Amino acid sequence: MDLGIEGKWALVCAASKGLGKGCAQALVREGVNVVITARGADALEATAAELRALKRGEVRTVAGDITTAAGREAALAACPQVDILVNNAGGPPPGDFRQWGRDDWIQALDANMLTPIELIKATVDAMAARGYGRVVNITSGAVKAPIGVLGLSNGARSGLTGFVAGLARSNIAAKNVTINGLLPGAFDTDRLRTTVRAGAQKAGQDVDAAWDLRRKTIPAQRFGTPDEFGAFCAFLCSVQAGYLTGQNILLDGGSYAGTF
Ligand code: NAD
Repeated sequence: MDLGIEGKWALVCAASKGLGKGCAQALVREGVNVVITARGADALEATAAELRALKRGEVRTVAGDITTAAGREAALAACPQVDILVNNAGGPPPGDFRQWGRDDWIQALDANMLTPIELIKATVDAMAARGYGRVVNITSGAVKAPIGVLGLSNGARSGLTGFVAGLARSNIAAKNVTINGLLPGAFDTDRLRTTVRAGAQKAGQDVDAAWDLRRKTIPAQRFGTPDEFGAFCAFLCSVQAGYLTGQNILLDGGSYAGTF
């Protein structure tokens, strides 16, 4: 299927690895020009080289922290226009809310709620004026089924989700601008491997055994891949997905146990 987005410009945040990289790859395969960001320049340039090797859209890089005003300004400045915005950043650490103070909460809100809102604010009206815009917020399955130790994530991402639910249904909807959440379950990325390893080491368990145990909790009996996450993201950014807005779509191999 031709997604009809060749030649458009996308800003894909936090995209040197994992899910963000999967999204950037899928968009570039469709001929989209991308600006990718990440904090570390080395991994970012390595990913950019992989994307350029696809010989499709133009690939630009911006090294910096997307959760800061300076990081966002640099990312936006590198993109001639933002037709597609993929919001992403590292997730907050696990823990017990009794140990978290105001600064922990502000950091989580900055990264996983206010940064995407700032980027949407900076881009959405121009998208509406041009009559095309796609915003995909990478959030988490925790938005539908909270994960106890990830209270900072549950809280911040739910705040973003609630805000976006209203915005997606405002006057931008009639201008072919859509905003949707893509909710990962368990995907095989550095982040998940680090989390599982830390949990296993803390509990004195074998790391490989813990990884396998985690896998078996998923009805699909496997972890998702950044490739399949990216393909879904690209579809959400497509011409064909113009009637889909304000939705939160779980990609979790069947892990969420609810009917709706
Ligand atoms: P990852 O660690 O594999 O990759 C994260 C990427 O984000 C890297 O490129 C890193 O450089 C970049 N990054 C992190 N913080 C940044 C910042 N402040 N500014 C710029 N770049 C930054 O992680 P992932 O598994 O791809 O996860 C992406 C998001 O999805 C995270 O918020 C994570 O919590 C969430 N998530 C992941 C899973 C999963 O199973 N992998 C499940 C639920 C939610």
